[in-house]
Formats: sequence, C-alpha cells, structure tokens
Amino acid sequence: MSHPAPHHRSLWHRSLWHPYAQMQTQAPAPKVVGGKGAWLHLEGNERLLDATCSWWCMIHGYGHPRLVAALKDQADRLCHVMLGGLTHDPAQRLADALVRITPEGLNHVFYSDSGSVGMEVAMKMAVQYQVQRGKPGKHRMLSLMRAYHGDTTGCMAVCDPEEGMHSLFSGFLPEHPFAPAPTAPFDAPREAVEADIAALRRMFERHHHEIAALLMEPLLQAAGGLNMTSPHYVRAARELCDEFDVLLVFDEVATGFGRTGKLFAAEHAGVTPDIMVLSKGLTGGYLGHAATLATTSVFEAFLSDHADRAFMHGPTFMGNPLACRVALKSLSVFEDEDYLGKIATLSEILRHELLGDEALGSDPLIADVRVLGATAVIEVIDATTLEGVQAFARERGVWLRPFGRWLYTMPAYITTPGEMRRITEVMKAWFQR
Ligand SMILES: *Cc1c(COP(=O)(O)O)cnc(C)c1O
Repeated sequence: MSHPAPHHRSLWHRSLWHPYAQMQTQAPAPKVVGGKGAWLHLEGNERLLDATCSWWCMIHGYGHPRLVAALKDQADRLCHVMLGGLTHDPAQRLADALVRITPEGLNHVFYSDSGSVGMEVAMKMAVQYQVQRGKPGKHRMLSLMRAYHGDTTGCMAVCDPEEGMHSLFSGFLPEHPFAPAPTAPFDAPREAVEADIAALRRMFERHHHEIAALLMEPLLQAAGGLNMTSPHYVRAARELCDEFDVLLVFDEVATGFGRTGKLFAAEHAGVTPDIMVLSKGLTGGYLGHAATLATTSVFEAFLSDHADRAFMHGPTFMGNPLACRVALKSLSVFEDEDYLGKIATLSEILRHELLGDEALGSDPLIADVRVLGATAVIEVIDATTLEGVQAFARERGVWLRPFGRWLYTMPAYITTPGEMRRITEVMKAWFQR
C-alpha cells in the first residue's frame, strides 16, 4: 500500500515531536550535521559554539577521538547483552571505577538508562530498604522546593510542584512533603545557613515517621533555576537524616563529573549519601546511561535467603556494553587530561567576566549573577527580558538556550579560554544593547 507523500514542509516537521516545544509556533529547529570540540556544525556551513553542551552532558565536546574509538572498538565486540543472569567486563569495570571515584562508602552500583530512571531506582530502593527494616510506614520522599529530578511519573512527583513543569499533573501524582528551597549561597558562613537548616529540621520533625529518604541535588538545584547553595546545608542534611533515621539520596545527575568544580558536589561538603545517582556526564554524553550507587548498609538490607527480598528492578538496557565502555573512556580522559584543572580555569573566567562586570551588577533587569564551577547564570527579574536572546546569540555564533528567568552557560570542559570568553561576551552583549 502506498502512502500519500507529505504535501508541504510542515508535515515533515510535525512527524518529529520536539521536547518542551509548542509545535504550532516553534520556529524550525537548526539542523545539526556534526560537531567537533565545543562546536556544533549546522547544515549550510554554519558553526555554533555550544554554551550548554547539549543539556550539560557532552562534557568532552563533540567528536572526541578517544571516545569515538572506544565506541567503535566495543561495537565490533558486543553492542548489547542483557544483564539479567549474565555479566560482562565493561559493566564490571565501570562499577569498580565508580566505586573508586565516588565518596567513600558507596560500594554498589545499579545501572539504568537515564537520569530519571536512575532516580526512580533510588526512590524504589529507599522504600524497599525501609520495608525490609520493618518500617513500611516510611514510604514517602522528602524533597525540596525548586528541585528537579526528572520527567517520569515518580520523578515528577518530587519536582517543585509550583515552579516546576509538572503542576498540570498534580491530581495524578503521589503526594510528598517539600521543604523550602535553601536560600543561603555557596560561600555563606554557617550562621547565614541556620534559617535554611531550621526550616529543613521542622520538616523532619513533622514528617520523619513517613519519610524513606531526603532527595537533594547537592549545591546546585539545576533545572529548577540554577540555585547555588551551601555545603553547610548539605552537611546539616546528612546530620538530620542520621538523627531521624531517613536515607539521604543525592541526585548528582547534573552536578556529577566536575560541574561544581569537584568531581562530585558531595565532596565540597565531605558527605557520603546513602544513595547517589549519576547520569548526564557519565558517558561523556555519548550514550544514555545512569548509575544508582548505594552504601553497603543499604545493599545488605536486600540480602536474604528469600528471593522476594531482592531488588526487583531491571531496565532492558541497563549496563549496556557500549555505554559502559564509553563511560570508562570518559573517566580516563577526565583523569589523564586534568579536567578538574580545566574546570577551575573556566570557573575563573566565568567569575572574572560575569561577577566582575559592573554593568551586569548594576543592571536593573538583573536579579542575580551566580557562578559555581563550570556553571554560570544571569537571573533576570522578568522572563520577557530574555525573549529573543537565542536568535541574538545565534547571529553571533553561540548556541544559548535560556529557560524561564535564567540565562546560563554549562560549557563542555574542553571549551578553550577564548571560547569561554566569547560565550560570556554574548551573554553580556544582550544586556548592553
Ligand atoms: C537531567 C536531570 C535528571 C533527569 O535525567 P534524564 O536523563 O533527562 O532522565 C534528573 N535529575 C537532575 C538533577 C537532572 O539534571
């Protein structure tokens, strides 16, 4: 049977439903045909410097020769095999590597295929852990306002219910308590964080009997508005979890692999969570994958002579050999090429160019400018201030994609100092027009 050919371009475009996009009014998306380093190659010979490294995951930039070679080599050996009842070297070696580099005590790795699913795994693990310790009443999560933990149903329920993107579904989602978003900035002294900690303590006092785990994006609430918060708050969260017998889950999907200036945000506070989730930077962005790590005390709650106490979860593509191989290569490149040094250099440039800029500091349209590691944001008072900034940046050869009131950059770590300044110049130029 023959199908009618599409009559006009828009039909072609409509066959591909884009994320977070109003398909009726969205301008045609630029078409990417390749990429090298921090640059996207578009059709028609256009080049765009990517200020966001593809939703923060392409930390080595595009077309990295060592990562591509690892994928090709693995593709020749084994592209995929189920992890149910079978094992393979890339999955085992990556688990060992993640145990080695993550905070002391996280000794067990459960794989899945995306950040959202990694968080679903963390929540399910926390609830079953409580059940198996004889505390079935602890079946809710405690989350924070301004949190973002993913788009699947369980994750939507622990995203900020007001500012988040999911309020439409409130009648469909399970209900969890939320503590206020922390307000004290990264470098605040302990006294300045007391009010945030007291507000969190009140939530523990009120709800601990029904709470399996506290979820947090340590130091950087990313998609909820790039809220940069204090290591004192993270340490206090650890203490409260211990005091009230609640698990601490760190969602390091965005912060993991250097984004805040240390390999993991948890290191700024010297804290080990009970469960930690990694994704975005895990494979250097080259394939979707995630890891949910657990301490031995969590892991051992699942050991038993009874099969039904096992962790009953298993995504089809967990431990995919291609993803594990490229993740291993990503870690090698990160270590061999002193990425933490590169991140420190980028951070210095961001501070100098954005925090040190008097015009930005005194602009009445701007609410705040923040920098943490290789992340910088200009928060405006009114979202309409940013209307048109994406086209403005594209004319200047830069790919920026602001959301809400936040114009930000989270560059690939291989971005050169010159490229980093080009990005900050364009961000500043928008306000100098
Ligand atoms: C992106 C993100 C997620 C969701 O990851 P996906 O791979 O998009 O499912 C979860 N948590 C945080 C902190 C994120 O930034």
